[in-house]
Amino acid sequence: MARMMTPKEAKGLSDETVVHVLWLNAGLSCDGDSVSLTNARLPSIEDIALGTIPGLPKVAFHWPLIDYQVGEEFIEWFWKGARGEIDPFVVVIEGSIANERIKTEGYWTGFGNDPLTGQPVTLMEWIDKLAPNATAMVAAGTCATYGGIHAMQGNPTGAMGLADYLGPNWRSKAGLPIVNVPGCPVQPDNMAETLTYLLHQLAGKAPMIPLDEELRPAWLFGKTVHEGCDRAGYYEQADFANDYGSPKCLVKLGCWGPVIKCNVPKRGWMDGIGGCPNIGGICMACTMPGFPDKFMPFMDEPPGAAVSTRAIAPYGNLIRSLRAITKHTADKEPKWRAPSTTLRTGYRP
Ligand code: SF4
Ligand code: SF4
Ligand code: SF4
Repeated sequence: MARMMTPKEAKGLSDETVVHVLWLNAGLSCDGDSVSLTNARLPSIEDIALGTIPGLPKVAFHWPLIDYQVGEEFIEWFWKGARGEIDPFVVVIEGSIANERIKTEGYWTGFGNDPLTGQPVTLMEWIDKLAPNATAMVAAGTCATYGGIHAMQGNPTGAMGLADYLGPNWRSKAGLPIVNVPGCPVQPDNMAETLTYLLHQLAGKAPMIPLDEELRPAWLFGKTVHEGCDRAGYYEQADFANDYGSPKCLVKLGCWGPVIKCNVPKRGWMDGIGGCPNIGGICMACTMPGFPDKFMPFMDEPPGAAVSTRAIAPYGNLIRSLRAITKHTADKEPKWRAPSTTLRTGYRP
């Protein structure tokens, strides 16, 4: 099967083209994903914004967290996108999308004012205006990807993620699907790396971004927390922590790591440091589409864990005892390493 055309092949972008990034943090959000991205190192946001990465197109961020422009001057870039006066541009959504259609007055979200009415422009309205002209749409963080905390059962806003709103089969005018980078907050390097990939793709230097069935970058979300956890050796030996402060496996304290798609224990949080269970925090499944409802109450042992820990106990306890013997032997030097009048190494001329 022939690979899909990249946007550059499809549109013929020149090397001088500036890619605008319109960052809408107007969703139901704590801005944690914006703050998280400032900690990225691979690459850093400064490297992307200042054009120090070879092969990357010029990028202009219109992002409240780092932009010098404010007020109407800042918002004008979003109106330009809506009017189709800038091209190409990537829209980043941060925060969940409140359903503004279920109420008769007021608004749940707002980002700038409509000059005609003087009323705030809701996130839903911005998505409606920008999506038809966008080259790519990216959801940053679990609120924007799947609804997250604000989309819990019983919430009054009808909150949802970007693909819930536009539909999972939405495609940009350049043929790109929505790109979801979940996490609460998003892991900084996961977000920076995804943006970098997309920018390379827009420049015609990378094939279509590989996504999984939930629209996540496949290379970032293909493994479970458990598969990368520093404590996995304890699990295998059925050695479980009963309280915090222990270096052992946290499954009985509520860790969902065995079934959660997230690379944070492998990647760490900042500069490779940290990573939830590695440093003593249970994995509460913050990257997952079912978060938080399907994983609550957070501090309880997951239902499947009771079965799996019981099943692994006989094997783990036996292996641990046998390894204790082997470890004792392996921890000693061979007996011939001593001053002696005879050679005791077994050497035969
Ligand atoms: Fe905040 Fe988490 Fe939602 Fe991001 S995903 S906006 S960090 S609550
Ligand atoms: Fe797996 Fe969690 Fe235990 Fe780590 S702490 S080994 S992720 S169950
Ligand atoms: Fe979220 Fe678990 Fe990944 Fe930590 S390890 S970021 S809690 S999914």
